[in-house]
Amino acid sequence: MTTHTTALPGQPFFSSRGGELFVEELRLADLAREHGTPLFVYSKAAMLAALGAYQRGFAGRRARICYAMKANPSLAILQVFAQAGCGFDIVSGGELERVLAAGGRAADIIFSGVGKTRAEMRRALELGIGCFNVESEAELEVLSEVAVASGTTAPVSIRVNPDVDPKTHPYISTGLKGNKFGVAHGRALAAYRRAAALPGLKVVGIDCHIGSQITDAAPYLDAMERILDLVESVEAAGIALPHIDFGGGLGIDYQGVQPPAADALWRKLFDKLDARGFGDRQFLIEPGRSLVGNAGVCLTEVLYLKPGEQKNFCIVDVAMNDLPRPAMYQAWHAVVPVAAGGGPASTYDLVGPVCESGDWIARDRELAVRPGDLLAVMSAGAYCMSMASNYNSRGRAAEVLVEGDRAAVIRGRESIADQLRLERLLP
Ligand code: PLP
Repeated sequence: MTTHTTALPGQPFFSSRGGELFVEELRLADLAREHGTPLFVYSKAAMLAALGAYQRGFAGRRARICYAMKANPSLAILQVFAQAGCGFDIVSGGELERVLAAGGRAADIIFSGVGKTRAEMRRALELGIGCFNVESEAELEVLSEVAVASGTTAPVSIRVNPDVDPKTHPYISTGLKGNKFGVAHGRALAAYRRAAALPGLKVVGIDCHIGSQITDAAPYLDAMERILDLVESVEAAGIALPHIDFGGGLGIDYQGVQPPAADALWRKLFDKLDARGFGDRQFLIEPGRSLVGNAGVCLTEVLYLKPGEQKNFCIVDVAMNDLPRPAMYQAWHAVVPVAAGGGPASTYDLVGPVCESGDWIARDRELAVRPGDLLAVMSAGAYCMSMASNYNSRGRAAEVLVEGDRAAVIRGRESIADQLRLERLLP
């Protein structure tokens, strides 16, 4: 008898075979049994396939893909991208040290973020970081001071806020006038003049990032137009901009809305760049979610079914501390039984054990489950584990990376001893 295999929408490296969910060649139920739940499971092939779409888009161009590691900073994931030739986009000294621990090179790192401290700047300079994406005029002054005091010069790119609406959730829009990020488009030329005059800085490029989970090419094309206008005026003022960093933000398919593929998007962007004579520039990009989001799922066990007057609750062992996107952004994740079977079908809100009404994972889902059944929360590779906390003194989940028919634990489950390690009772 042949087993029917169906790839899951948006996540082709996860499939249903005869009613059982697989990641690459492994049964998810076996992984849950062996490693417990909640458990994040990632497919290496899915990450490399996502990266491949960008690599195709940049074939024949001068480009570096800098993985925005805030999406998922686990060391083994950084190692996969470092070995595949990626650089990294970081936003803290902690992220910098993680890249080094994973085998990445400081020269391949770009340092973004609105609140870099002097200590973080010093350490990045000492290591020979590739570029600082400076987010304010005040930061230019401080960075120059720190570089001069360290006897070095800081390579800088100014993050420009192009005031383009990425048409995504307000919490993940970053390139609008009201956002805290970047230097306003209208101030950018003055900021570049100042940067070029400061003794500790060397201007090496221009940067923008307009938001996250962008599902349409139009805001990118608008932002590119605005950035190229600025490149022309900054260079007309005698300040060369050797690279253009176009940020990240490309969305993934969570719920049937398909963003453009990375190679298709970049074909359109290069049409514009070529038409305006910028096609042979050095490009940097900072994708995060689109490289890892659909490479991961989170496995959870059903603890209790709780029928209610207005709602039925399916209480699971994953909570907002493990997978905060629904609580933070009302985000939607597909939820799929790991194996067929279960109880009678009903409509449930899937909620965790945390003491908050905001602790929900999915709402109004038709599920046929019983206590003890396993569910997979899909598209959980990005901004889930990276935003996990110990709220309610819950230990953070374990993570497993799968390659073909092999699974490696890349992060053990956090124990109570891990949680208490830095705390002290009063004498
Ligand atoms: N670059 C910067 C400066 C960011 O702030 C972010 C995320 O918000 C990213 C890159 C990555 O975005 P995404 O994960 O949507 O690709």
